[in-house]
Amino acid sequence: MFEQTLREQVFETAQNMVKDRLAYGAQGNVSAFDRQRGLVAITPTAIPYASMHVEDIVILDLEGKLVDALWRPTSETEMHLVFYRQRLEVNAVVHCHAPYATLFGVLNEPIPVALTEAAMCLGGAVEVAPYRRPGTPELAEVAYETMRHGVAVVLAQHGLLAVGVDLSQAYDTAMAAETSARIVYMARAMGREPQLLSEQEIHEMRRLYLSGYHPKPVPVIKEE
Ligand SMILES: [Zn+2]
Repeated sequence: MFEQTLREQVFETAQNMVKDRLAYGAQGNVSAFDRQRGLVAITPTAIPYASMHVEDIVILDLEGKLVDALWRPTSETEMHLVFYRQRLEVNAVVHCHAPYATLFGVLNEPIPVALTEAAMCLGGAVEVAPYRRPGTPELAEVAYETMRHGVAVVLAQHGLLAVGVDLSQAYDTAMAAETSARIVYMARAMGREPQLLSEQEIHEMRRLYLSGYHPKPVPVIKEE
């Protein structure tokens, strides 16, 4: 059953956020969109990941109407739905409170592209959306407007939001933003300003990632 698969994927991604220290408790939220059926699987509000089960993941439609749910969905649901409505290539949204990325949100400074993985996954610096109260339509609006055609945005005084064609890509993007932010922080802690990749190299790395980064099975050679 498709809802179950989508639920499992969202659940696993939410658990990974805790493992990878992008969030703790019930912070952040994750969703995935089945565009063919017009249904979204999204984490529930205020249920800690440690006690969450696959069945707790909420199924709703693009207007936010509950389709199959034990709980209310995350209060940031609109911040997910706006991307599914407005951007046809987006099928997954990851919002987390990654500490180093959020540090840049407190400084109101875009996360620079210091690493090749950031160039590949992000394709440019991650801008900071102005502060809006969590759970409001205003936050969804500034997140969407600030990200524009990008794939990630920092929410001032709050956290990080990443989108992708699927959950794996959205998650890698969130991790790349967090790792780049952490490396820049570490360089500055050493009293140095990090070297950044050139715009041209970022562009080329991004192009290579989008066109050629996928599992490549070794061809099976049949013996005669
Ligand atoms: Zn949040």
